Amino acid sequence: MAFTVGVPKETAARERRVALVPAVAAKLISLGARIVMQQGAGAAAGIPDEAYRAAAAANAEALSFAADAAAALRDADLVLRVQAPSPEEAALYKKGAVLVAFLAPHANAALIEQLRSGGQTAFAVELIPRISRAQSMDALSSQAACAGYAAVLIGAGHLKRFLPMLTTAAGTIRPAKALIVGAGVAGLQAIATARRLGAMVEAFDVRSATKEQVESLGAKFVDTGVKAEGAGGYARELTADEKAQQSAALGKHAALADLVITTAAIPGRPAPKLISRAMVEAMKPGSVLVDLAAETGGNCELTTPGEAVQHGGVTVIGPLNLPSSLAEHASEMYAKNLLNFTQPWIKDGALRIDWTDEVYAGAVVTGDDAKP
Ligand code: NAD
Repeated sequence: MAFTVGVPKETAARERRVALVPAVAAKLISLGARIVMQQGAGAAAGIPDEAYRAAAAANAEALSFAADAAAALRDADLVLRVQAPSPEEAALYKKGAVLVAFLAPHANAALIEQLRSGGQTAFAVELIPRISRAQSMDALSSQAACAGYAAVLIGAGHLKRFLPMLTTAAGTIRPAKALIVGAGVAGLQAIATARRLGAMVEAFDVRSATKEQVESLGAKFVDTGVKAEGAGGYARELTADEKAQQSAALGKHAALADLVITTAAIPGRPAPKLISRAMVEAMKPGSVLVDLAAETGGNCELTTPGEAVQHGGVTVIGPLNLPSSLAEHASEMYAKNLLNFTQPWIKDGALRIDWTDEVYAGAVVTGDDAKP
């Protein structure tokens, strides 16, 4: 028995990632899969069709390429995607097919309903429970790490200064100061990256558990006196008093920083506004703020999603879909997440989902009728 995995080319604007990389394709084939990819699906991530062919050379007949999405997906038992499909694409899926992607289910109710009535099963990777057993499947984390890294490089690219200290015949350059606000997965990767580039790094989060993590990366923890642990290891929204206290403390550190990177998020809520216009106006001329929360409204009052705006002498950047800018490695990490997520379903060359497993029961958005 064999099951078929279909992988289309991503269709969203500015999306360069792909849901399957050659090494994972080879692994799925060794587990009994037939794979049909849309031609050029990996091209924007720098992965040509030939790379998939080379990886699958030992079982060449198990991998084929289709000229369009319809041909790639029509027989698929499992559709692997990065972003949610269009309604037109979802209409191609056969009854009983299983879709795994970043489905943004709260924003895509009509799509979920379409999949439900089409008899498909759909998993939203952003709903995979963040328990230790599921860490290797955690696509939010793998992609957040890409974003944290990319944010520092974008910031460094806009700065007119070095990040590291330089001792040269022309004199000594002092290291840049970076402030990272929010020390979750993206923030910690931003801290590590800024440290590797030689910046002096300060960081802040409302979860006190982050102090040790921040310090273990060689950064200084800013104590604003505000602690806001919420449910499930996440932050809760701050009260008005706590917001004022945090702003006053953060403003002083932002005013001394060359590079500020904000990554704060509260699950299911718009991004908390942490950097006001007045705080930006108090920042040094030439300094740069990179707002990783731009997609959910921004942590900075002046953020324009997708743009770099000048305010006084400060550049405020609101990048969108940063993992896509590191498409090759972001795809590699995402594809491994998908492999770890789906591999337990593969029994004797067929797909059998264990609905008693909280990971699958938690991430499913439709098609779980078989769930006990
Ligand atoms: P996130 O993207 O939801 O938020 C980013 C950070 O913003 C968080 O650290 C949050 O505390 C912080 N934040 C929120 N409001 C803030 C404010 N007003 N000021 C400053 N910071 C603020 O978080 P995330 O990166 O997805 O991770 C959050 C938690 O999930 C962490 O505890 C992390 O260790 C945990 N986690 C667990 C697993 C796992 O076990 N599988 C995987 C990844 C993350």
